[in-house]
Amino acid sequence: MRSNERECIARWEHAFEADPAIEKEKYYLTVAYPYPSGAMHVGHGRTYIVPDVLARYQRMKGRQVLFPMAFHVTGTPVIGISKRIANGDGKTIGLYRDLYRVPQDILDRFINPMEIVRYFSEEYRRVMQKSGLSIDWRRRFITVDPPYSRFIEWQYAHLHEEGHVVRGAHPVKYCPQCENPVGDHDLLEGDKAEIIRFTLVVFRWGDARIPCATLRPETIYGVTNLWVNPAATYVRAMIDGKEWIVSPEAAAKLALQDHEVLVTEKIPGTVLIDQTVAHPLSGDVPVLPATFVDPDMGTGIVMSVPAHAPFDYIALRDLQEQGKYTSIEPVPLIAVEGYGEIPAKDAVERAGIHDQNDPGMEALTQEIYSAEFSRGKVFEKYGGRSVREARDDVAALMVERYDSVPMYDFDNRLVICRCGGRVFVKILHDQWFLEYSDPCWKEQVKTQLEEMALVPPEVRAEFVRTVDWLKDWACTRRVGLGTKLPWDPTWIIEPLSDSTVYMAYYTIAHRLKAIPPEKLTPAVFDYIFFGEGSPETVDRETLDAIRSEFLYWYPYDYRFSAKDLISNHLTFQLFHHRAIFPQELQPRGMVVFGMGLLNGAKMSSSKGNVFLLEDALEEFGADTVRMFLVGSAEPWQDFDWRNELVSSTRKQIERFWNTVSEAKQAEGTTPIDAWLESRLQRRIEGATAALDSFQTRQALQEAFFGVEADLKWYRRRLPEGAGGGAVLQDLCRTWVRLLAPFIPFTCEALWGDLGESGMVSFAPWPEADESRINPEVELAEELLARTVEDIESILKLIPMEAKSISLFVAPAWKHEAFRIIAASADKTRVVREIMQNEGMRRRGREATDAAKQITKLVLKLPPDIVKQLAASSLDEQAVLEGARSFLEHEFGVPATVKDAGESTHPKAAAALPFKPAIMIE
Ligand SMILES: [Zn+2]
Repeated sequence: MRSNERECIARWEHAFEADPAIEKEKYYLTVAYPYPSGAMHVGHGRTYIVPDVLARYQRMKGRQVLFPMAFHVTGTPVIGISKRIANGDGKTIGLYRDLYRVPQDILDRFINPMEIVRYFSEEYRRVMQKSGLSIDWRRRFITVDPPYSRFIEWQYAHLHEEGHVVRGAHPVKYCPQCENPVGDHDLLEGDKAEIIRFTLVVFRWGDARIPCATLRPETIYGVTNLWVNPAATYVRAMIDGKEWIVSPEAAAKLALQDHEVLVTEKIPGTVLIDQTVAHPLSGDVPVLPATFVDPDMGTGIVMSVPAHAPFDYIALRDLQEQGKYTSIEPVPLIAVEGYGEIPAKDAVERAGIHDQNDPGMEALTQEIYSAEFSRGKVFEKYGGRSVREARDDVAALMVERYDSVPMYDFDNRLVICRCGGRVFVKILHDQWFLEYSDPCWKEQVKTQLEEMALVPPEVRAEFVRTVDWLKDWACTRRVGLGTKLPWDPTWIIEPLSDSTVYMAYYTIAHRLKAIPPEKLTPAVFDYIFFGEGSPETVDRETLDAIRSEFLYWYPYDYRFSAKDLISNHLTFQLFHHRAIFPQELQPRGMVVFGMGLLNGAKMSSSKGNVFLLEDALEEFGADTVRMFLVGSAEPWQDFDWRNELVSSTRKQIERFWNTVSEAKQAEGTTPIDAWLESRLQRRIEGATAALDSFQTRQALQEAFFGVEADLKWYRRRLPEGAGGGAVLQDLCRTWVRLLAPFIPFTCEALWGDLGESGMVSFAPWPEADESRINPEVELAEELLARTVEDIESILKLIPMEAKSISLFVAPAWKHEAFRIIAASADKTRVVREIMQNEGMRRRGREATDAAKQITKLVLKLPPDIVKQLAASSLDEQAVLEGARSFLEHEFGVPATVKDAGESTHPKAAAALPFKPAIMIE
């Protein structure tokens, strides 16, 4: 590590410990605490570095900033890792030894899950410090620390009392291998899978029952046949004492869903083909062969409704084209606008589908499903109701009269637990649930969302959607690390449920460490958070101090997290805040981050596609890593880490270092100083506005690249031999502060070099000085810069060596035309408007041409320049005349500046305001 970095880390060790400071406005930001089960990669790096930039900015703005960190270790993942290491699992050991480079003696101790947690939380802290994060480390904790468990017990006692935690029978994701319900955190694959409730329509085959799973029970009236896979093997099973025929997969699934299942014999699919089955609502129908039937979907036997299901329609057509089952006709039962009598036939023919293997079939099925569900009506003879209503009615009728039961399965089939085993839907009875389905609770969260700042604004709709579809959440597990449910200690609170209001805990975490955990009773927390009651285990003075610290910081101002947490954590925490804390302590804002890519592919530790943060810090230096991560995308955009791009960032920081080091000695004044000063004020304004709206990339553009570009022009414009005026010294003091939030290590060192005392981390953020903004000077330089650019592009185009340059500036009447055109609201009619002016009309064709050219120019120039130009009385001739020696030096030839109005040269007629005509000879 570079010695400067080491020095800063030592200086910063306790610098960001923040205590309440009544005289200052507070700013409290939090980031989702990490789960330290492996090394941090550069994607994690951005998650913490971007908030750190904002924390540093707010601190320099004079706010009292709290930026805490803790480690989330609840749940089963480390237990699984530990087990796999203990069992000698080569892949896991390889990951930890080779990718994460855990020393062998420590790896040996990983057979105890707490050792993994301890090792990596210390590693995380070390690497976070190396990254320059300005964290108050006194408040750090891990989620199995006893004081934290007391806090979670208090939280759950409240939720239970208020009726937000209920016990019930619910379908949940379940891993039979772990014998545990699993949350999205516990999954290797399928973390977006949803549990779907199907209806089993029960057909009779002699004494046996053949159930078919469907989402559309109302279509029973249109069933023409069943489909069975002739290549599959089915089973005869006693299910709840009755004889059923299903696939073996289905039998296993039903056993997890409140059914008593006893498999008695195997039946080849072929035995079922051409048999006749019956349902009271469909009558007798035959069983037909279909290879598309998947034994792992539903019961492995499918009811066929060719009039309304494109798959069934085309499978039947395929058979009939071979001359089989030609007597079967689709039986329609739903009328839907936009389709003929047989909607499936219509859709298939319209889409030009050839056979059942066509890739367009899935979308077509969805199209018909949606059309019929939203606008379809069941025929009069089947009740004449909307599909929406008929679906529920028929399902209820079938459950009551025709032996139907529900069956649960995932929408997309494969859901895999971290243990490697497959996850199924299980109905749990004694499980505890957070009742997120409660409409009153949902309403409160929606009200809260309306009052919050959400960045970027488009995530608002996603939050509302999440609140709407959230169902009850299984919040306890039988195994794993974590806090026991206080009233039923056979259960442990799972990770997404014990991480919802810990932002409040941070505000007092360091103070609780001084109190023995057994004294942290619910009454103590009631007093701290609500100011209620009179706990006896802790003295009042201590409690009052703790409460006043909580009230100083809370509520938090902003929470930062990745967009994939909207569907769980970020929304859960709003529910819990509403349930626990009063209105004035509700969260104020959230900033939702994009994802990290590595060389264009999604970063993923389990797939090995990661670049470790510590490797990046070592290879490039902390500031380079920070600047790259902040500069490559705005927080809500996805970013892509590419080593070759990171290297160029390092060179940029070196340039900055050299510029500031050289400018220290600058003295005297030059004519262009006023321009540089003015530009600097604009950069301060730009960077400040960007940071105030969390646009960290835009802020860096202004603060780094913007200032650098200005300096480049400034140097070019200096009189020959001049090194720059004392204005540079002032600029450097400002520049170092503007960049301090982004590249604090470099800036801390430069700040000392500039002779400033104290740390730049606490220096005041630069403020734009209005009195130093000089629009006329900026406009004049803009004219000159654009003219230089135009000359350069002409020089590139002409084959000859230039001997002289003549510039013709536009005459007064063209400036007048410019003002009229700039002010006109309708640029398409403006030429006619101008020609109504007597003076212009007299100029005839010349004026029409000029008006057209000027209109084009006005549309091309940045609007703020057009506005300035229209309002200014910029003397172009004087500006360019004043820069004549500069132009002659730049291009190495004599230059002249003339008024186009007084020249008869044919080129002169092309002169436009802000765009002199150029003649090169
Ligand atoms: Zn498992």
